[in-house]
Amino acid sequence: RKRNPGQDEFVQAVEDVAQDIIPFIADHPEYHEAEILRRIAEPDRIVSFRVCWEDDDGNVRVERGWRVQNNNAVGPYKGGLRFSENVNESVLKFLAFEQTFKNSLTGLPMGGGKGGSNFNPKGKSDREVMRFCQSFMSELFRHIGPDRDVPAGDIGVGTREIGYLFGQYKKLTGRWEGVLTGKASEYGGSKLRTEATGYGVVYFLREMLKDREEGLEGKSAVISGSGNVALHAAEKLMSEGAKVLTLSDSDGFIHDPDGIDEEKLDWVKTLKIEKRGRISNYTDKFDGAEFHEGKAPWDVDCDIALPCATQNELDEGGAKALLGNDVMAVVEGANMPSTAEASARFRKSGILFGPAKAANAGGVAVSGLEMSQNSERVSWDHETLDNMLTGLMQDIHDKCVESGTDDDGNVDYVRGANIAGFRKVADAMLAFGVV
Ligand code: NDP
Repeated sequence: RKRNPGQDEFVQAVEDVAQDIIPFIADHPEYHEAEILRRIAEPDRIVSFRVCWEDDDGNVRVERGWRVQNNNAVGPYKGGLRFSENVNESVLKFLAFEQTFKNSLTGLPMGGGKGGSNFNPKGKSDREVMRFCQSFMSELFRHIGPDRDVPAGDIGVGTREIGYLFGQYKKLTGRWEGVLTGKASEYGGSKLRTEATGYGVVYFLREMLKDREEGLEGKSAVISGSGNVALHAAEKLMSEGAKVLTLSDSDGFIHDPDGIDEEKLDWVKTLKIEKRGRISNYTDKFDGAEFHEGKAPWDVDCDIALPCATQNELDEGGAKALLGNDVMAVVEGANMPSTAEASARFRKSGILFGPAKAANAGGVAVSGLEMSQNSERVSWDHETLDNMLTGLMQDIHDKCVESGTDDDGNVDYVRGANIAGFRKVADAMLAFGVV
């Protein structure tokens, strides 16, 4: 905390991991002696730069850009770019730290990184977003490369932004190479990448439910967010026979007691992705639904809760409400959506609690497969990739169970994910000596 003043999110993420790793390394002095945890918690480097762009009215705007390269022990730095007014160094450091463990869990050769800007894309024209992306890449391109650091999308960075960023990288370097993932299919993007995080969350949940001899059919689910992760998690839940009751955005949440069906979800996709509209518009279109301004959906009675919007969106009050309604499973689609207090309550309660670094790893896993396809100059079909994603999520689940089961046979998926993610990176770092 002293070393990272004011970086609350980063300290929270490190403490979450440390509470499981410190007891673990007590039995593994080789990690302790080499100060591996301390080394992973100090990013390899942080690049910070000015991003200057011109808006449609000819005003000069100045933003800040960052790339946090946390750890490349097991592969090139890999992790998304976030454009949001809430971005700062603490948020990106926490995300890059988490990403290191997540990428390790996938078993693919990817290190951890994250980047972005405090630029707020909301309300900006396409041309403004394009000019910003070009300016951002005009500095970032010096620090990335297919064997060095491969960024992707995150909040506020989707296919449109990746297109502008990739176009500028190509122009500056004269090279077409797999330097970004999340590209459109016309120029090297992988099939299933858009869906992968949300689908992966549900595949992970399915595996956890199997541990309790349960399935998704007939279960009710509450989801927060209405972005890439939330909408694809909703889509997969529905196709597995669950009833999705809520979606949200930064204005509040909608509750549809009849359930959001395929047709309603298609309408939301157009609203949020194409029209960049607000979730509150849902109630103008569909009878029986209610909009709750400024609120999160955790009071709604459900079997399953998937927080899929942003960090610290599910606090202790939300956790109490969910547990009070006998929620069976909480699975994190967003990164660190549960506060430390909420997470502690879930872990103590004995419900199925799937931590982000395991449950939402499907997106980066398919990004890893996009890197392989780009290197090999091939394009795998949807079914092949879906089978690979299913297998990867099963494998991550099994690693969590293996490292997270106590002597009484109880599984703590958080501990399992922390230990299994740590181990691979730590062993690689030990092999490199003190560098
Ligand atoms: P999107 O930008 O597509 O969607 C983000 C959603 O979260 C929007 O509905 C947004 O609402 C809402 N949101 C953002 N900030 C807040 C806030 N402060 N309070 C309430 N709601 C908010 O992002 P993604 O779906 O890609 O990402 C969501 C989460 O999942 C993030 O934590 C991200 O790091 C994580 N993640 C994403 C992956 C991916 O593949 N995309 C991979 C792994 C993790 P609004 O429209 O009002 O901004």
